[in-house]
Amino acid sequence: TPFTRMGIDPRVAINLSGMGIETPSPIQEKSIPAIVEGRDLLGLAQTGTGKTAAFGLPMLTRLLKAGRRPAPRTCSALILAPTRELATQIANNIDSYAEGTAIRQFRVVGGASINVQVQRLERGVDVLIATPGRLIDLIERGAIDLSKTTYLVLDEADQMLDIGFIHALRRISKLLSRDRQTLLFSATMPKLMEELADSYLTDPVRVAV
Ligand code: AMP
Repeated sequence: TPFTRMGIDPRVAINLSGMGIETPSPIQEKSIPAIVEGRDLLGLAQTGTGKTAAFGLPMLTRLLKAGRRPAPRTCSALILAPTRELATQIANNIDSYAEGTAIRQFRVVGGASINVQVQRLERGVDVLIATPGRLIDLIERGAIDLSKTTYLVLDEADQMLDIGFIHALRRISKLLSRDRQTLLFSATMPKLMEELADSYLTDPVRVAV
């Protein structure tokens, strides 16, 4: 398929056909090869462009290739999203793309029981999808350690700044391993975003759609 030709694992690519996804969208065309190569990426893209697959398919490919289970209270990949609604959409998409594989996602957002989240995190998770505020709460409780996280996505980063998550994002950036790949997606690029992008990304490929 066009996706396997870009380096996407066939176990993931096969799920796309079932969802009626046959041809990569422009953001996927432009970003997937660079992400598969291991580059950091700064993507200027609105929702509805297929950006979830753009970061999700290479993420699953990489996790399948590594093939190891996460250590207790760690996550291999972390996706940060501004709202519960977006986190849920991402979780649903990842479930569809990962169907039939051993990769599991877990979504942690405010408004849900933190004790249940703490308990689930004990055994570690492949893909953690979080809003920044709840992630900070979990870090403060010692429920999650980000030092083993090697794939990080900031989705709708401008929304996260608008909501007032800049302080949380600065704190989170300090807890991450340097040995990681980071992708940042935003619909707009205000000044504060450039600063944030500078602190999170290393020599990023820039893609706009
Ligand atoms: P997103 O921009 O990630 O929120 O995706 C918007 C919608 O487009 C989702 O329902 C996806 O399942 C769908 N989608 C993603 N990639 C493609 C593609 N290459 N072709 C058709 N639909 C897609």
